[in-house]
Amino acid sequence: MTTGKNYIGDVLSAKGKTTFKTINPEENSENETLFFEASEDEISQAVALAEEAFKIYGTIEDVKKADFLDAIAEEIEALGEELLATYIQESGLPAGRANGERSRTTGQLRAFATMLREGSWVEAIINKTEGKPDIRRLQIPIGPVVIFGASNFPLAFSTAGGDTASALAAGCPVVVKSHPLHAGTGEMVASAVIKAAKRTGMPNGVFSNLNSSGIEVGVALVEHPSIKAVGFTGSIKGGTALCKIAANRAIPIPVYAEMGSINPVLVLPSVLKTESEKWAKNYAASIVAGTGQFCTNPGLILGIKSNELDYFITILALEIDKLEPACMLHPNIKKQYETLKSEVLGQSGYTQQTTLNREIKPNYALQNVITVDGDIFLKNKTFHKEVFGPFSVVVKCDDIEQLNEIILDLEGQLTGTILNADLKEYGDFKEVIQNLKNKVGRLIFNNVPTGVEVCSGMTHGGPFPASSDSKFTSVGLTAVKRWVRPVTFQDWPDELLPQALQDKNPLGINRVVNDIVTQNTI
Ligand code: NAP
Repeated sequence: MTTGKNYIGDVLSAKGKTTFKTINPEENSENETLFFEASEDEISQAVALAEEAFKIYGTIEDVKKADFLDAIAEEIEALGEELLATYIQESGLPAGRANGERSRTTGQLRAFATMLREGSWVEAIINKTEGKPDIRRLQIPIGPVVIFGASNFPLAFSTAGGDTASALAAGCPVVVKSHPLHAGTGEMVASAVIKAAKRTGMPNGVFSNLNSSGIEVGVALVEHPSIKAVGFTGSIKGGTALCKIAANRAIPIPVYAEMGSINPVLVLPSVLKTESEKWAKNYAASIVAGTGQFCTNPGLILGIKSNELDYFITILALEIDKLEPACMLHPNIKKQYETLKSEVLGQSGYTQQTTLNREIKPNYALQNVITVDGDIFLKNKTFHKEVFGPFSVVVKCDDIEQLNEIILDLEGQLTGTILNADLKEYGDFKEVIQNLKNKVGRLIFNNVPTGVEVCSGMTHGGPFPASSDSKFTSVGLTAVKRWVRPVTFQDWPDELLPQALQDKNPLGINRVVNDIVTQNTI
């Protein structure tokens, strides 16, 4: 039998008493490797190493960190087909998705490396006015952080995913609390990070990877006094529990948790007149994408009652029924899908739109669309709940006023989408859209919410419970801002300042000098 290991810096270790195995959801069987939950000692060692590593890594040149991130991408690619096979075996996700997610992961790492080489991410600001103190500010890393791997993205939001890449870019050592659903994938990626760290001369402890099958390891890490921030993607229950633990510490720390969202979509009347088939098809595909296990899954579609809306719903249901059910990530995620779905389907006042009597394999999810009238939706909050999986509620509103009331009643969301085929109509819905903007992190026009571009302009976050702090994003280059804090140098000799703040600008980066952006001319 093979044994899974924790990475305590570059040392492989398996000393914990609790063991567990991952599941192959497609086969509905246990995978072979036996993993050992990290022990108290291993947790302490990983954090102590991270604290030690921060003394060096927190001040290392950006170009060296960039080389490290590039090397991680290369080492992940060098894991080849074996990584993809393990990913598929532990997640039930198809090969195309495994491949795409690996590219996204390596792409993110390389994008942060490019950002570091460019340099202006440190937000250097210089204020020098005759007769006033010389004031200079930049962002510095906050210290060792804990990253929780996400169940639904075994690569892109896990061991060396966006949270880890952005924290390492900032200069923060990372201790990963690996997700138990894909511990083998996590361990392979951890080996790539450790190889890259050695190859590029990073201090030992810049990265550790700890296994667990219960909440204790995560709780111990968040409570540890040397940990300075937390990154998390998962359930509202898990995210809010970690926020409370972090807030109750003697020295509280921020938890950047990306949690639940039903991602409302407003189908405006113009669309229903001319583009019903197109959008019904696109939305059927979006609802079942990744077996509905995307944070941006369109769980709520809103329109105003009309024959055209009924036609759209009919086509949507037909398109949904045409698609083959697919495997979920784990029997527990499937169980939770069924429980949450049953809770919604146990309510009265909705209409079932899709076929329920289809044969499916054990961990497969049957996609489901229901409709409900606006007044019932307003009265019954169960219909507002995120059902993690291929499930959507279409709400038939009486009029614009009711649609507006519903938008005002929604919780915070990652995304909000407008489908519109005639810009003249926009004026009628201005207030509704303004209210939607206040609820979401990303406003989409004529598209589906699934699919999140990794770029500087992206916001993947939103008002609670979409995320714990709507001022930040967990996707894209500005995700780095979660792991830094500003520090101001007053009246310091030029040669003692960080290079980004020196008069001669040896790094040649763009800076703000006396509130004017000075462009790098090198
Ligand atoms: P989860 O239950 O929130 O767990 C995520 C991670 O946080 C796991 O490593 C878990 O540890 C840990 N954790 C959870 N509660 C904790 C607590 N009270 N204290 C310390 N650590 C805690 O999410 P999941 O396992 O990924 O999936 C379960 C459900 O979460 C899904 O069915 C879905 O509803 C939701 N989810 C939402 C999103 C999203 O779109 N934002 C993404 C993924 C999942 P252990 O597993 O080791 O116990």
